[in-house]
Amino acid sequence: MHEKKTAIVIGTGAGGAIAARELQKKYQVTILEAGKEFRPFSLSVRGMGKLRKTGLFLDERMISMLLPNMVIDKTKDMVLVRGRGVGGTTTLATGNALRYDGALKRLGIDLDPQFEALERELPITTDHQKHWTETTKRMFRVFEEMGLDPVVTPKFMYPEKCVECGHCAIGCPTGAKWDTRALVHESVRMGAELVTDCTVTSLEIKNGEVKSVHARHKGKPVSYTADLVILAAGGLGTPVILQNSGIACKDTLFVDPVLCVAGYQPGAGQDRQLLMPFISQQDGYILSPYMDYLSFFFNKQWRYPMDGLVSMMIKLADEPVGRIDGHRVEKSMTGPDDERMKSAVAKCREILNKLGIPEEKQFLGTLNAGHPGGMLPLTAAEKDTLHHPALPQNLYVADATILPESMGNPPILTIMALAMKIAELKN
Ligand SMILES: Cc1cc2nc3c(=O)[nH]c(=O)nc-3n(C[C@H](O)[C@H](O)[C@H](O)COP(=O)(O)OP(=O)(O)OC[C@H]3O[C@@H](n4cnc5c(N)ncnc54)[C@H](O)[C@@H]3O)c2cc1C
Repeated sequence: MHEKKTAIVIGTGAGGAIAARELQKKYQVTILEAGKEFRPFSLSVRGMGKLRKTGLFLDERMISMLLPNMVIDKTKDMVLVRGRGVGGTTTLATGNALRYDGALKRLGIDLDPQFEALERELPITTDHQKHWTETTKRMFRVFEEMGLDPVVTPKFMYPEKCVECGHCAIGCPTGAKWDTRALVHESVRMGAELVTDCTVTSLEIKNGEVKSVHARHKGKPVSYTADLVILAAGGLGTPVILQNSGIACKDTLFVDPVLCVAGYQPGAGQDRQLLMPFISQQDGYILSPYMDYLSFFFNKQWRYPMDGLVSMMIKLADEPVGRIDGHRVEKSMTGPDDERMKSAVAKCREILNKLGIPEEKQFLGTLNAGHPGGMLPLTAAEKDTLHHPALPQNLYVADATILPESMGNPPILTIMALAMKIAELKN
């Protein structure tokens, strides 16, 4: 019998999950995942909010006690959020399914067939307005009146399962939100092996090939070998593994910084709204209604009850200036980032004013970010191979690390299309 070739996929987020599922068609795949199965936040956020008075919630890193699959890194002025566990950061995502491949197209990378295949396969819909609160509907109208061109967000979701709990980013309790766990479990049904609690530390490279993948499984050192290795440990995880393996990355980290501008309006009910129901694309940033749990728990200005908060996200396309040194992330806003953020904040304040929330009832959230990437960016030279010349010939990176620039937009669908194409090139 002809033996299947073998592949290792590291990570089960946007890039890793689809690569594993596609490769399993031709290879025997082993999936190495640092985290465990995802466990959603199961307590009442409104109820937990009352505990803020006790001063228990001191530091954003404490969120892992409530939500073990959420990992927080802090830089000098920013909180970085990512997921660790089956499904990666997609389990914490708000389910936005946007195609955003302009920069890749400019390099000559055509992902049309992959986007078409993903759009056929995945539950992507804009049919969720029946779940909108009155406040969301009012916000949408204000955006329209101000000429901000709000667009109903395409979502990875089964709308009929949504119970309007607002928990999209801390673990959808009903399965209304789709995430990449579905692909991981499908790969396993197809015969792939999933090894959780297995943190890859480095790759051993000899004669231009990865010979072994070194990891710690449940704390014990282990090694794996395969014909092909796909590295998809995310924009903050992949560079560390590459650096540990003697492959330098570039100091071009972007993160899409997020700042929420919020106000207090009793009875607004915005906490019982699926997150980011619509998006307004502006020059270098997006605006979208978003309940910011990190600010709610850890930012003293957010001392109001959750059901009276009206909050809007600014998500910026930041300059690619940042690095990871060992496990320490260095990332700050640049001058132009700050300028753009300032004008976006002014716009949000105007929106809140029009919603009847005066300046004295408005406040800012904590600067945070959850779209890290860009430290081994693709260039036009790799448009056909999607393989960076610094990598051994049997190693591909298939996650946000290879995106050429910040999108300032939700990247899951684009990362998936890219990872799918990489898997197809190897199939
Ligand atoms: C709160 C929040 C909401 C978001 N909402 C959206 C949204 O609505 N739509 C959207 O498009 N994007 C959204 N994003 C961003 C999106 O989730 C990420 O950009 C995307 O998941 C990145 O994909 P990735 O494959 O690069 O990495 P990830 O999805 O982060 O996957 C990396 C995987 O690698 C694993 N890993 C890490 N290190 C190791 C190691 N050493 N060994 C083994 N495994 C390892 C991790 O556990 C994880 O499974 C959101 C992000 C956040 C934080």
